[in-house]
Amino acid sequence: MIQLYIPLNFLGVIYREIKQSLADMERLFSLLEQNKDVADAPDAKPLTTNGAALRFSHIDFSYESKRQILFDVDFEVAAGTTTAVVGHSGSGKSTLSRLLYRFYDIDAGAITIDGQDLRNVTQASLRKAIGIVPQDTVLFNDTIGYNIGYGKPGSSKEEIVAAAKAAYVHDFIESLPDGYETTVGERGLKLSGGEKQRVAIARTLLKNPAVLIFDEATSALDSKAEQAIQEQLSEIAESRTTLIIAHRLSTIVDAHQILVLEHGRIIERGTHTQLLAADGAYAQMWARQQAREDDDGEEDGAGAGA
Ligand code: ATP
Repeated sequence: MIQLYIPLNFLGVIYREIKQSLADMERLFSLLEQNKDVADAPDAKPLTTNGAALRFSHIDFSYESKRQILFDVDFEVAAGTTTAVVGHSGSGKSTLSRLLYRFYDIDAGAITIDGQDLRNVTQASLRKAIGIVPQDTVLFNDTIGYNIGYGKPGSSKEEIVAAAKAAYVHDFIESLPDGYETTVGERGLKLSGGEKQRVAIARTLLKNPAVLIFDEATSALDSKAEQAIQEQLSEIAESRTTLIIAHRLSTIVDAHQILVLEHGRIIERGTHTQLLAADGAYAQMWARQQAREDDDGEEDGAGAGA
């Protein structure tokens, strides 16, 4: 019996390890499609943050040499403030978040966090400082507790519960048959888009990053769920430097700064009120979305994107 137990136990350890690395890979692949080789500089230092002010200085970037994606993109996100990026599909919004995570190196310019060029800091320290709530949260075939705890390896049950409470997902978890031990994912319980996003928020809260990237889902949640997520998000974002890749303008009216990207260039910037007053591309986008939301409301009474 003992002879059988030891190898099985050993297999269990290996399985855990493989699962962890698969989880990392999955997470990686969900964020990057193909990667140029990005390596730590030989003298790379750990990133140190103090407020985490972001600076994108005159960035040029292309995934492939023949097709430039970003042109002279230049902006700052002051420490603890929220900047939202809007623009048509393919304008380069998500590319900005990939560059901040340093999945790719830029062709010209510099990106800094608190004055430190991303190319001079270790990738491990950079990725520790940035939390991403992605468009589509990957849930592992494991317990919901594991799925939240993944944000901070070695976290205690108390920390996981506290994060779930802060993300307003604790009551939902408690209502599941096995609470935090309920298996979710492919072969377990299926969660709705909103519930998954709340798990991602709890995961990110546990990670407690200095910089938050929120990649808003293109497929809309129903408007009530969206509003709830939005409120939770603004709470987390309050004291953190936050970059929101936005698809619905209604979610970003309170952002400190909105950047409008078109074909890889910033064509307008300002607050929601300033951009409406400027009566340019943003004001047109806003008018179009408002009209669409009114139409949807009339058709099915469910509001935008339901
Ligand atoms: P959406 O709103 O649809 O998410 P986006 O504004 O976030 O779009 P990006 O994902 O940043 O757009 O893509 C900008 C451009 O870069 C697009 O033309 C896209 O086809 C291209 N692109 C994205 N990823 C890669 C890649 N790995 N290799 C080559 N081109 C890519």
